Amino acid sequence: MSEQEKIANRIDSFRDEMIDFQIKLCATPAISPASGGEGEAQKAEILLDLLKKNRFSPIEVIKAPDMDAPAGHRPNILAHYKGKSASKTIWIMTHMDIVPPGELAQWRGNPFKAWVEEGKIYGRGVEDNQQDMVASLYAVKAFHEEGLKPNYDVGIVLVSDEETGSKKGIDYVLSHSNAFRKQDLIIVPDAGNEEGTMIEVAEKSILWLKFKTLGKQAHGSTPEKGINSFRAASFLVTELNNLYKIFPDKDTLFDPSISTFEPTKKEPNVPNINTIPGEDVFYMDSRILPGYTVEEVTKVIKKMTSKIEKEFKVEVVIEEAQKAPAAPPTPAEAPVVQALKKAIKAIYGKEGKATGIGGGTVAALFRNANFEAACWSKVDETAHQPNEYCIIDNMMGDAKVFAHIFLQE
Ligand SMILES: [Zn+2]
Repeated sequence: MSEQEKIANRIDSFRDEMIDFQIKLCATPAISPASGGEGEAQKAEILLDLLKKNRFSPIEVIKAPDMDAPAGHRPNILAHYKGKSASKTIWIMTHMDIVPPGELAQWRGNPFKAWVEEGKIYGRGVEDNQQDMVASLYAVKAFHEEGLKPNYDVGIVLVSDEETGSKKGIDYVLSHSNAFRKQDLIIVPDAGNEEGTMIEVAEKSILWLKFKTLGKQAHGSTPEKGINSFRAASFLVTELNNLYKIFPDKDTLFDPSISTFEPTKKEPNVPNINTIPGEDVFYMDSRILPGYTVEEVTKVIKKMTSKIEKEFKVEVVIEEAQKAPAAPPTPAEAPVVQALKKAIKAIYGKEGKATGIGGGTVAALFRNANFEAACWSKVDETAHQPNEYCIIDNMMGDAKVFAHIFLQE
């Protein structure tokens, strides 16, 4: 039997134990203080216990101070497991925190008493992010029990605060630790698709703008005495549509492959029909390919706005609701992407594909610090929903994918 087969069989033998561990983690909800919870300290204790039993060493706990958490801090765990070579480390990072369950009436059971039904575990946090947290831990445990060594050092990273901005999570770790090196492989299994083929390597920049158009209110029967802000704003919306023509580049890494500029939210103006509205507010959601800078887009938008201001004698105030420039992408040829592709092919028999997405993931924090990180997992994307579930076979398969990478040359 090959080492790969031995490890895969050993992982299969953990199936019931992994389900039980999921249920145990679920019973210790790690909701961030910002969302009304107590943080991750208790959940971290359960995880530290498992890490110690499986001879991870050294185990480092980086505590980000947080006076809102009863423990006074938010724990971040870096657990090392020795491989044959220390020339690089294969890191797998998952997050301990969960989002609140939301409306309990929408759940078919207690979100913190996880239950198993037709090959799935249901409960808050079982997919996001416990599925791959448990998978990564038991992938290493398989090596420990089989008496085999991974080809390279393995690092399991368990962070806090992913759901509320990562300031006390990986952001804090990156500025308080030198653990990560350029040659390391960094895998963040916190995004993916049903087939397990999406390897997320890049994001678009996000730009959310609020446009407040100021005209002059008047009676509906005497529009000449006012300035209709709604009409001016409507022409502005049409003008902004030209952004698609001005920034037309395509990048097939992304789906959709173009930058998008969409008018979205609209605030109500006047409550009655017979008033010319003096103020109008709408919003735009732009997702910009990394080939363009947010600044060059903003510049064009300002030009369009001044044109409308002159033409309609209104004032348009632009506010940034969110501006998140894209992190440098991880190249599709990067070793972490290649390693994932090989393992996905071997375990799931599918071709992995490097992909860019429209929104940010926590891997962007690594990329901003100039590390090549890739997001990957096989998930139905039930995160943050009522009746969140984890397909048990995905948890088992993902563990084998990680183990496969630990044994790659
Ligand atoms: Zn997550």
